[in-house]
This record gives sequence, structure tokens and C-alpha cells, in this order.
Amino acid sequence: MNRKDFIKMCGLFGLSMPLQGVMNACSSANNNSTISGSFSGKVIIIGAGAAGLASGYLLSQQGINFQVLEASSTHGGRMKRTTSFVDFPIPLGAEWLHSSPSEFTSIVNNSNVQVTTQTVGYNNQDVVGNYNNGTYSTSANGNPGVDRKFINSTWFDFFDTYIAPSVLPNTKFNTVVRSINYSGNKVTITDTNNVVYEADKVIFTAPLRILQEGSISFTPQLPSNKLNAIRTAPVWGGFKAFIEFTNKFYPTFLTFADSQTSEGQRLYYDASYGQNSNRHVLGLFSVGKQAEQYQNLTGNAQRDYILNELDQVFNGAASTNYIKHIVQNWNEEPHIKAAYLADNAPTSISSTLATALNSKLYFAGCAYTREDDWSSVHVAAKSARDAVREVLS
Ligand SMILES: Cc1cc2nc3c(=O)[nH]c(=O)nc-3n(C[C@H](O)[C@H](O)[C@H](O)COP(=O)(O)OP(=O)(O)OC[C@H]3O[C@@H](n4cnc5c(N)ncnc54)[C@H](O)[C@@H]3O)c2cc1C
Repeated sequence: MNRKDFIKMCGLFGLSMPLQGVMNACSSANNNSTISGSFSGKVIIIGAGAAGLASGYLLSQQGINFQVLEASSTHGGRMKRTTSFVDFPIPLGAEWLHSSPSEFTSIVNNSNVQVTTQTVGYNNQDVVGNYNNGTYSTSANGNPGVDRKFINSTWFDFFDTYIAPSVLPNTKFNTVVRSINYSGNKVTITDTNNVVYEADKVIFTAPLRILQEGSISFTPQLPSNKLNAIRTAPVWGGFKAFIEFTNKFYPTFLTFADSQTSEGQRLYYDASYGQNSNRHVLGLFSVGKQAEQYQNLTGNAQRDYILNELDQVFNGAASTNYIKHIVQNWNEEPHIKAAYLADNAPTSISSTLATALNSKLYFAGCAYTREDDWSSVHVAAKSARDAVREVLS
């Protein structure tokens, strides 16, 4: 069975799942085990995205002293969203739940908390359009798979409601870590303002592209297998756009001949799907090589390129119905700089990157995982559970 067949099994949005992980991700990944241990020192977490927030939350549940250092002025990382575009929140990064809603319960890790976040799955009547060699055709989405849209909510909102309140009081924003010394009894961290922080253990969650750029130095140097994994890891850039139209002239999904290749992916989709809203918003998701055509343009030229692409498929309906749009170029986010580890990367890369060093420096995040599935929020949260379990042991 090739990758495309796997994707069909999981529905169209197997798109962001690595081949090796698709089978896992099709079933629920509710694989918690008890988090506890005898450790009682201080932990510093670098980064306040999904993995950093989940790590801090679990440490707070255990009563462990922790501090989060976040480079940007806000939390959430690649779960960024905007509430100012239309009357429902727009996810500029992570959009779908690539797993069962039971994953929310795993992340919250507290049976007394009732999670009210609502999601909706796709159904086999949803229309998939395909534009290929100048011909547009449609079919029903025969096998809708596991992917779910948040209803008037996002991954960010879920974290903001259930996870972040325990973590934000211990979070220092606008703090860019530039060096980590894990050679002694304590780990010493220095930020770009030369402020020094000390902890017994550190959980590192900054994105892989940040490690690739070498802007954080490690003492002792990272071991050669990790350096090799960092150097060879294929990391895809990412670009999303959301366009509001006066009418819905498009199907649930619009695919192209290059929607799914070994070099990247792209897809237009109904971003209003399942929302309690009358607004018509079309989303564009693109990563890897397929994102570059959009990333290479800016402003009106970028907008016109997108509208022109859609006009060709829908006989000019895009320009006629256009109201406004927003874009998110992940390569330009100063402390993230890319989308994620390519879906077709070898599993050895993320598992090597997940390995802890000297029982002091731990790694959590969507690229630092022993799962054979990466590039998803639920995987980042699972890696945080693994890291915290190791820290406490
Ligand atoms: C376009 C796109 C679409 C996606 N779609 C989905 C989807 O539909 N569903 C899904 O589940 N996932 C999706 N993902 C993936 C998902 O967003 C990520 O897997 C997840 O959010 C990563 O969380 P993280 O904590 O590992 O990293 P991040 O969210 O990147 O968090 C890392 C944090 O570290 C901070 N940082 C960086 N450098 C430093 C430093 N030197 N010092 C201190 N802090 C630093 C950053 O500012 C950031 O806040 C998508 C991602 C993209 C880009």
C-alpha cells in the first residue's frame, strides 16, 4: 500500500501525517500512564508552544517548581490564531485535531475536569474538487478519516482554557535563550540580554529549525548523533491564507495534481466548515515546495496570484466574490521559521532528537518524539508527557 492509499484510509487530512505514523494516528493515541516520581528540584522549560505549555502544566500538577522562558511576546507557538478576521477564530497554524477527541482528556490529565471543546468530523457526502491539467472534477469524500475541525474554537483556545492558566504565571516572555550549559550539577541558561537562569533540569521545546540555525549554543556540545539528526532533518516551510468571499462557490476540499508529493503539500478547504457562522471563508494550507509559490510573493501580488489560481478553477468566481484575506508565512515567524519536520523524514531523526542528555537536558515538541508520527499538536503534548515522566523519574 503506498502513501496515497494510507491517506485515503485516514481521509484527506492524513496530509500532515508522516507515512510511518498514519496507522497509529488513525486509531486514538490515548496512551497515558501515570506521571509521578520523587524529583523535587527546579525545572526550566524553553518555549511556550504546545509542548512547553503541556510540560509546565504537568509539572504544576505535581507541585514542581518550574519556569518557562519564551522568546516571543505571547504563548501558543504554532497554535497561533486570530479572532479579528471573521466571527469565528481562524487557526493560522495548527487547525485540525488529527486524532480522537479523547486526546483532550489525555492532555488535561485530570478526570475532574470536563472538557467542553467541540469538534466536528467530516462526512462522506463532503465534496472534494480536483483541478488537473485545466479540468475540474468533483467526487464525494468517500472515506472522511479521523481529522476533525474545532467548532468556533482552535487548538490555541483549548490550551488557553485548560492548560495555560497553570503555566502563564511562571512564564517569562520576550526571553530568547542563546546558550545552555549542562556540564555541571545545575543547568545554566543565558538569554540574549545576558540574564542567567539556573535549574536542576531543563526541557527544551524550541523548534527544530532554531537548532538548525545554530542560534543556541550547548556546553558540552550536543552529541554527534543529535548534531547529525539536526543537520540532515528535512524541515518544510509553511504558508496559510484565509480568504473571505460573499458566496460559497467552492467545495469542502480543493486538490491539485501536486496536493501531495514527497516535497510538500497544498490544499484549499472550506475553513467555515462546521462553524456557527454565515461567513464564507476558504483556507489555503501549504507546506514544503508547494508553499514557495505563495511565499515568494507579497501584498497584492500574493493576493492576485491566489485569486487567479481560484478564478481558473471556478470561472472567475473568486475575484467576483472576494471580500478580504489574511496570510501567515511561518518562515517569517522569528522564533519558529518553518512549518515542521517533513512528513517523509525518517523516524530515526525525531527519536534521536527526543533523547535526553546527562539526565539534565530533556527534549519535547513535535519534532522531538519517539512516536512514529510527528508534526501535530497532540504529538507535541504526548512528547511533553514523556519528557515530564523522565524528568520526575
Ligand atoms: C501551517 C501549519 C499547519 C499545521 N496544522 C496542524 C494541524 O492541523 N493539526 C495539528 O495537530 N498540528 C498542526 N500543525 C503542527 C503544530 O502546529 C505543531 O506540531 C505544534 O504546534 C508544535 O508545538 P511545539 O511546542 O513543538 O512547538 P512551537 O509551537 O513552535 O513552540 C516552540 C516555542 O519555542 C519558542 N522559542 C523558539 N526559540 C526560542 C528561544 N531561543 N528561547 C525561548 N523560546 C524559544 C517559540 O517562540 C515557540 O513559542 C501545523 C503547523 C503548521 C506550521
